[in-house]
Order: sequence, then C-alpha cells, then structure tokens
Amino acid sequence: MGIRNSNNKNKEHEEELFKQPPTEEDCPICFLRLPYLGSGSRYYACCGKVICCGCVHAPVYDDRGNEIDDQRCPFCRSLRTSSDEELNEMEKKRIQADDDIALFNIGVYYRDGRYGFPQDYTKALELWHRAAELGHAAAYRNIGVAYETGRGVEVDKKKSEYYHELAAIKGDAGARFSLGCHEVCAGNIDRALKHYTIAVRGGYSESLEVIKDLYKKGHATKDDYAKALQSYQAYLAEIKSPQRDKAAAADEEYRYY
Ligand SMILES: [Zn+2]
Ligand SMILES: [Zn+2]
Repeated sequence: MGIRNSNNKNKEHEEELFKQPPTEEDCPICFLRLPYLGSGSRYYACCGKVICCGCVHAPVYDDRGNEIDDQRCPFCRSLRTSSDEELNEMEKKRIQADDDIALFNIGVYYRDGRYGFPQDYTKALELWHRAAELGHAAAYRNIGVAYETGRGVEVDKKKSEYYHELAAIKGDAGARFSLGCHEVCAGNIDRALKHYTIAVRGGYSESLEVIKDLYKKGHATKDDYAKALQSYQAYLAEIKSPQRDKAAAADEEYRYY
C-alpha cells in the first residue's frame, strides 16, 4: 500500500510537472499576453499593474482624448515618481496590500543590496516565500536558486530542485530551462527535451537554441526541433503587436522577444 501510494504520487507529480503551465497574464491595457522577457513590460507600484512595453511607450491620453505628459502611469494615470525613497514607500504599501510582485521585487532589492536596501539574504527569502504563497512563480525560482548557491540557507540540492519544479509548474520558463539543463547533465535527454520544449512555449528563446544544438549533435530528432520552432512561433503570435514593435524599435529597453 505504501509503495503503491508513493508510485501514484510520483506519477501524479510527473504529470503535473510536464503539463503545459499557465501563461503570463495579459496586459491590462491592450489585453495581449505579456511577454516573458523582462524588458517587455514594466511594473507600476502606484496601481500594482504590469503593463506591456507597447502601452508604456504609447502616449497617455486624458478622458477627452488629449495627449497628456508621459510622466503618468498609463493605467491609473497617477504621476510617476523617480525618487528611490518615494518608489520604496509605494512598494512597501503594495506589500501591505499583499501584492506578490512588490514582495518579489523588494526581495530582489534585499538580495542585491539595491535602492537603499541593505544586502540581506534572509530577509529576501522571507519576502519570496510570501510572494510564492501568493502565486508568484519566479519567487519559487529565486528560493530554488538560494538553495543551490547557499545564499541565506544551507546548500540543499533536493530543496533547490523542489522549488525549481514548483516555479516551473506555476509557469516560470526560466526555472523550466534550468530543470532542462540539470537533466542534460544527468544524461536524461528525453526529460530535458520535454522541459526545454515547454520553456520555448513560455517564451524562453534560449531553450530553442539549446534544442537546435541538441538536434545538430544528434541528441534530438528533426521532429523535436520542428515542434519547438512551431511552439516558438505560436508564442510570438500571441505576444507580437505593432504597438510593441514600435516601442522596441524606438528603444532597446523595450525589446520584448
Ligand atoms: Zn499593452
Ligand atoms: Zn498606476
């Protein structure tokens, strides 16, 4: 019975692990799927919205259709602030409202000792755990990385894998890519290919390059590579828009794929 249960559990876990995860959310202004690449969107602490580069770059209009200055948030139109102190205050307020992105971001500031936050790995992990509980996929990945590198915790490969898997299941393509790399090192090319292919669909283009490489070296079939290419095209079809192209052409900081 005990063995049977654990087998079932393994099977369930495997199924969950290799299921196509949920996609990134949509931009609240243009309603198109947000790109995976970080430079493809911006987080606004005023309203807690993640807005795509296309809508960030586009002019902001008032209720009468007149263009207003671009120092305002494109979603809630509150005046943008550029001082670290004010931004920190805003994000701290968002934390009180259980905003998972704010929790994640401030965790990163503590990890890096940035924007006036002292470097504190323990504090970073505490915030990422809270963000993860609220459903932030990349927070799980950062916890996984901490267990891999021993920042703020003892190195623990098992826990690192566990958190990377949770992140991947929640839709973090970067964590999925790392799991693929670990499987390659362990000689499990089949599992690696599954991870890489899912990561490609999530917009992790480096994954496509790796699959291409595996194909060239004879570790993956032509069909594997063709499927991955198709997945990437499907991803691009979901995220591409003329408005985002315009933003990316105007400024490298708005590159979104
Ligand atoms: Zn948008
Ligand atoms: Zn706003």
